[in-house]
Amino acid sequence: MRDEYSIYVHIPFCKARCGYCAFSSSTDLSLQWRYFDKLFREIEYYSDKTKPIRTVYIGGGTPSVADTKFIDELFARLRRFFDLSSVEEATAECNPESASADVLNCFKSNGVNRLSFGLQSVNDPTLKKIGRLHTYADFISALKRAFDLGFDNINADLIIGLPERHSDFVHSVRTAAELPLAHVSVYALELHQGTPLYSALNGKSPFDDDEQADMYDEAAEILTEHDFCRYEISNFAKEGRQCKHNLHYWREGRYFAFGAAASGFVDDVRFTDPWSIQDYLSTPVEHMRDGTREKISRSEEANEFAMLGLRLESGVSLSEFHKRFGIRFDDFFTAADGLIARGFLAVDGDRVKVPSDKFYVVNSILAELWQDD
Ligand code: SF4
Repeated sequence: MRDEYSIYVHIPFCKARCGYCAFSSSTDLSLQWRYFDKLFREIEYYSDKTKPIRTVYIGGGTPSVADTKFIDELFARLRRFFDLSSVEEATAECNPESASADVLNCFKSNGVNRLSFGLQSVNDPTLKKIGRLHTYADFISALKRAFDLGFDNINADLIIGLPERHSDFVHSVRTAAELPLAHVSVYALELHQGTPLYSALNGKSPFDDDEQADMYDEAAEILTEHDFCRYEISNFAKEGRQCKHNLHYWREGRYFAFGAAASGFVDDVRFTDPWSIQDYLSTPVEHMRDGTREKISRSEEANEFAMLGLRLESGVSLSEFHKRFGIRFDDFFTAADGLIARGFLAVDGDRVKVPSDKFYVVNSILAELWQDD
């Protein structure tokens, strides 16, 4: 995976701010000219045609609000400055209200073969409460447009813990599970100080941890009943439809990254571009990554490889770990045997995994594994 590369591009524009948003995004679409001009210069400056790219991910923000002439030019630049000849998967994030036929056609003609929609809930009152601009009907129209244009690899994101009833969340999962989606992601709501939703809820999630764990288990059960297979803690896919780009991250693959707040991992160095759009625009491309470059040691990489791999249903291959890092998994992680004895990790042939019924507490398990290392 160290020789395999992906590309992430951040498009930080949205029509409106969602009530819970803490991402790098702006509603000032007039900044697009300057932003894309900078992005194109960054892509050219860090160009590298020696590493074939396997996946491309255009995230945000909301890439579907960007003017299509910028998206066309973005892909033209990526093709000119990187080797996209063997890309297997190219994803674009969309919001339902901005995924017009024009935008979807533009993505399609540039090789995008996977769409990821921010659905969040199928309940219109909830969508309104959290500041989303779309209704469930808008999502269905966008989905139909996407299918009509030939997209068949489509994800929808849902959120656990929104200000709605437990049963409303279950209704969202059940409804999404019955749609012809290839992939569903289920994330827990993160309440960030300073966001309108944080103030509206006085910083307190509507559900306690136990109830959220029950909601997650119900979601996993419903999705599994509908032939979605959980392959990572938050991600469920129909057979063969796992997101290759995310799997590449989780398997400690390398990736180029461009745009505000984008983080990359090239050769053995991690870096992050300036977080705010203003800082991104005002920093010369040659200094954009200054102060953030961090060379990852083999030991740090071994740790990350295990931490990311154990969030996958398939876990970590013990022989691959040994081959890659020259040390046995249980010699590297001295807490592993104890966790295995207590049933928080399980060895299945060549793989070590978090058992399915412990998936919701994966973060505590990983913290114990890491701390005792
Ligand atoms: S669509 Fe995403 S990036 Fe944009 S405001 Fe909503 S949460 Fe933030």
